[in-house]
Amino acid sequence: MTYRLHLQPYQRRFRQPLQTHHGQWSVREGLLVGLQQGDAIGWGEIAPLPWFGTETVEEAIAFCDQLSPVLTEQAILEIPDALPACQFGFGSAWESLTQPSAPAAIVAKDLSGLLPAGDAARSTWQILWQNGHRTFKWKIGVADLDHELQIFQGLAQELPPEAHLRLDANGGLTLTQAQRWLECCDRLSRITLEYLEQPLPPEQIEIMQQLGCQFKTPIALDESVATLPQLIHCHAQGWQGIMVVKPAIAGYPQALRDFLQNHAVNVAFSSVFETEVGRNAAIKLAQDCSTSRAMGFGTEHWFLKEYPVETAHVLAAPIS
Ligand SMILES: [Mg+2]
Repeated sequence: MTYRLHLQPYQRRFRQPLQTHHGQWSVREGLLVGLQQGDAIGWGEIAPLPWFGTETVEEAIAFCDQLSPVLTEQAILEIPDALPACQFGFGSAWESLTQPSAPAAIVAKDLSGLLPAGDAARSTWQILWQNGHRTFKWKIGVADLDHELQIFQGLAQELPPEAHLRLDANGGLTLTQAQRWLECCDRLSRITLEYLEQPLPPEQIEIMQQLGCQFKTPIALDESVATLPQLIHCHAQGWQGIMVVKPAIAGYPQALRDFLQNHAVNVAFSSVFETEVGRNAAIKLAQDCSTSRAMGFGTEHWFLKEYPVETAHVLAAPIS
């Protein structure tokens, strides 16, 4: 079995730069990959996140460029583990060609809406609420601790009682800072504080496990479990808490689905700001794993509606 390969790099500018502990992010760059057989073509997306330990876009392009324009199934199955975003892109393109199906319909309530960091969160959540979101994520570890705690108290007072809030430190807190956050979170009773995500750097899993035992507020790992091998390792080491899974950077979707369907893992699925191609594949995978938690795909409002290169355009382009 062979497949004709199509590549389409894209850039997608954020409406305003996304601020996290990893820095500012202004343009999402990635690559759409098409696998063609006869008249049928299946698309997948390579959306790397190098600050999570994946390949860079340049490395992904270099890898794709050295591939034969006519690919065998074997070549698709032999993408190195060092290129997890490529594994996902090719794996999902192959799935969309061989088992085409769309994800089941979702509404905003099923998705966690991403708030901007800092004060802007307090003037933004109402818009997301009006759009139907009931779960929110707020990035912390971006500004001064006391200032952020103050904003947090305000936000917790303003959000409706049925709101769920997730805090994401992107590994940017010290142990003392994490303890202060968790003390504040534990005192909160007005809204549901769903979890504190990745308070400490990725390798400090044991300390995060201890924090999970010392405080009522659950801890979620994200950067620590970016790829499937890392997730399997953490699970094997006895991590009982929540694990954030970003399918687009976890590796082959088939392997991820297989693992999650066969192990009791407390998962929160999340986006890497991919386009509709990767997003649909990731949401479909999440639905296959029957998660009840709101999915972290409430990120579309971070982009302008008219992006320079978008799926519909690429999919409509004639295949030469
Ligand atoms: Mg995170």
